[in-house]
Amino acid sequence: MTATLIDGKAFAAKIHAQVTAHVARLKADHGLTPGLAVVLVGEDPASQVYVRNKGWQTVEAGMNSFEYKRPADTPEAELLALIERLNADPAVHGILVQLPLPGHIDADLVINAIDPAKDVDGFHISNVGLLATGQKAMVPCTPLGCLMMLRDLHGDLSGREAVVVGRSNIVGKPMAQLLLRDSCTVTLAHSRTRDLAAVCRRADILVAAVGRPEMIPGDWIKPGATVIDVGINRIDAPERGAGKSRLVGDVHFASAAEVAGAITPVPGGVGPMTIACLLANTLTACSRANGLAEPE
Ligand code: NDP
Repeated sequence: MTATLIDGKAFAAKIHAQVTAHVARLKADHGLTPGLAVVLVGEDPASQVYVRNKGWQTVEAGMNSFEYKRPADTPEAELLALIERLNADPAVHGILVQLPLPGHIDADLVINAIDPAKDVDGFHISNVGLLATGQKAMVPCTPLGCLMMLRDLHGDLSGREAVVVGRSNIVGKPMAQLLLRDSCTVTLAHSRTRDLAAVCRRADILVAAVGRPEMIPGDWIKPGATVIDVGINRIDAPERGAGKSRLVGDVHFASAAEVAGAITPVPGGVGPMTIACLLANTLTACSRANGLAEPE
């Protein structure tokens, strides 16, 4: 392996420590405790794991964690009423509705019912519009984490060729907006992109957010490029024993690491940064709500 490994776990721990220290100062100087409300509807096992992790990390950072678990058949109106209550609750500075929601619930309607100032996921159309127009927004946590790692590695990103593969509202599109804001030349690729290999080979910065195990091989990568692998895919791993599985990204790590200049591993790359950024966004929301200076 020739690429530098980007250690998202260590970076996330650093952010977590900074947030924890800032929360302690908020408490000591202003008597404030940031609060994050997480709403989970249904029994999706992956969502339950995410919510549990978010909960304990919130508490560990010294913030209040409020969890609202509702059955899968919860009526949409009941969920909207809960959001309204949380919007009005001064102890709640951040609201996160765990996606996906059950099919009978209009996710856009629910997300857009959240007070944009408390929308720590950055999915509300107001925050999407603010980000797209270069204004102060709540920025979605996963792309924010990717950007922080890129800035940490390179400093100024301006002028670099960036290719983002995947155009979802939660990762690909906001990632492209953030890279554009940092003056990269951005290409947003997707399932209809022609000759994706050639497009990827142009990239100084390649962000993969597709959800297809190891689909990007090393020979799609420009020598020396920085590769950020957002994908989290569980695949069978019979070599580890019968019925065993393992996590892989959207990039074929072994071949990519021979070509790239730097690369995030899966797991231990982008994943840990997402929750760290969620805590940072909750702290920012609390600071803004109280007219205080925002954390760096
Ligand atoms: P979505 O399924 O919402 O979007 C996937 C995108 O990939 C779509 O834009 C789709 O294109 C594109 N795509 C699909 N197949 C191809 C292909 N063959 N070639 C090029 N593009 C393709 O996924 P998400 O954005 O929600 O998530 C992407 C990955 O990131 C998943 O593995 C997910 O688990 C992971 N993830 C990780 C997070 C973390 O914390 N690390 C957080 C969020 C997601 P089209 O629009 O044309 O259909």
